[in-house]
Amino acid sequence: MSEQEKARSFLARMLGLGKGNEVQAPAAGPTNVAGQALPHFAEVEMIPVRQEDGRLTNYPPPSHWDDWVEWDGKQWPKRVAHRYMLVPTTCFNCESGCGLLAYVDKETLEVRKFEGNPMHPGSRGRNCAKGPATHNQVYDPERILYPLKRVGKRGEGRWKRITWNEALDEIGQKMASSRKKRRDGIMYHVGRPGEDGYTNRCITAWGVDGHNSHTNICSSGARAGYFFWGAFDRPSPDHANARVILLISSHLETGHYFNPHAQRIIEGKMKGAKIITLDPRLSNTASKSDVWLPTWPGSEQVFLLAVANYLIQTGRYNKDYVRRWVNWQETLQAIRDGKLDLDDADLLAEIQNGTADLNDFGTFDRVLKALYGEFSFERAAEECQVPIDRIEEAAEYIANCDGKLAAHTWRSASIGNLGGWQVARCLFFLNVLTGSVGTPGGTSANSWNKFTPKAFKEPPAGTAWNDLHLPDEWPFAFYEMSFLLPHLLLEDRGEIDVYFTRVYNPMWINPDGFTWLQVLQDEEKMKCHVALTPTWNESAWFADYVLAMGRAGER
Ligand code: SF4
Repeated sequence: MSEQEKARSFLARMLGLGKGNEVQAPAAGPTNVAGQALPHFAEVEMIPVRQEDGRLTNYPPPSHWDDWVEWDGKQWPKRVAHRYMLVPTTCFNCESGCGLLAYVDKETLEVRKFEGNPMHPGSRGRNCAKGPATHNQVYDPERILYPLKRVGKRGEGRWKRITWNEALDEIGQKMASSRKKRRDGIMYHVGRPGEDGYTNRCITAWGVDGHNSHTNICSSGARAGYFFWGAFDRPSPDHANARVILLISSHLETGHYFNPHAQRIIEGKMKGAKIITLDPRLSNTASKSDVWLPTWPGSEQVFLLAVANYLIQTGRYNKDYVRRWVNWQETLQAIRDGKLDLDDADLLAEIQNGTADLNDFGTFDRVLKALYGEFSFERAAEECQVPIDRIEEAAEYIANCDGKLAAHTWRSASIGNLGGWQVARCLFFLNVLTGSVGTPGGTSANSWNKFTPKAFKEPPAGTAWNDLHLPDEWPFAFYEMSFLLPHLLLEDRGEIDVYFTRVYNPMWINPDGFTWLQVLQDEEKMKCHVALTPTWNESAWFADYVLAMGRAGER
């Protein structure tokens, strides 16, 4: 018996299958034309998952996941049953990481389809179209299944299959020889990590400054705005319980965090929440909104500060919250010490000559009025190029949110415009003014309700520095300046001994793809390129080693 037959026989025994591939029919009872036992759907109590539109409400209960039977739709009108193991797994097609159930055919041990996992707390059984499409990726005819080593010139497209041991030995030797010479010769450039910190643990253990990310292309602007408020870099809005949902850009129904957020936004809307969306496009999100503001790109901050000013001037902000949680005395001291200017000359004089009481919140209230007074609705209407009555309507909704303002910004407004990081900063200002921080229906820090397992042993914090990640000219860079990498290499500011790309295809997604091509072809600057990817992409074509990665759905 070959190894394959032995494994098959072992798995068949484990799964309760008969010899070979056949599912044994029970001694008694009805069978289908294939001689298999008929399923008894009526006896299974499905999990009902409430959805507003009535679709997809039933899922197989976990008690039946080990042995689930369904008719084969393709065999209709014959009634041919398939028996499955339903294995919980995740989707990797965006950062949401929604739950999936892999329907593993007990006969062939192949995944026949992916459906939603009703027990997953984030996605609750629902997925966008990309979730079930994981099946296409698993069985992609161009999928890379083995480690490959380049045999021709780089980019020539000639490869040979090598073993994992050979790949690990050869790459490991190159890394070791680089590490002996220096601590900035190995770089791991990640597109999608697909895990939460394990890789960084390895990179730190190598003793190099080796982590590079794509974050400065898309999200670092928004992250910076949040980070400067409270040392967290992403919001976690409670849309389902909000009174007002304030969204900047359309992504919540069409992109990142699409499904877990979108279903809760609609849940909130069904319960009466008002949705305000700032987006130049009449996006899916905008079309479901109570107020759509097609703001001129780069003007979003002015709208946000106009709303802040309205709350401040009318005294409709949450003074108790601000008094308790904001370091307002320090602001007053900064004005006293000449570190912060104020347009109101009388107030400035009072603070600086000691007439004003710096421990009185009323003084701070007057300062707020002076600091933000210039942001009128008229100014916002002019700069944002939207009708003033819509701004007023949005401001009134926010003023009435009662500590339940769920707000989110991501990507375009904050990374696509000069000073865009202020968008997230101004947006969170509204959360603070309305006391909607960490409240039900408000906005929390992403790190407040996220479980991140701690590794049993961490390597000591790194002390190495790689100028190709964080060049001196940008001391305030929030995340690595990775989009400059090929340009820095072309300026002879360094070279890389071993360069890993992990589910990252800069030749395709970065705007300057041809510069990346130039550098990836240059064996002096990029001495060894190892592409970690499950399928071919443009950048992997210019690698020295291509290492086959698994798909999340298979884990
Ligand atoms: S939102 Fe869609 S693509 Fe993203 S993880 Fe969920 S199912 Fe996958």
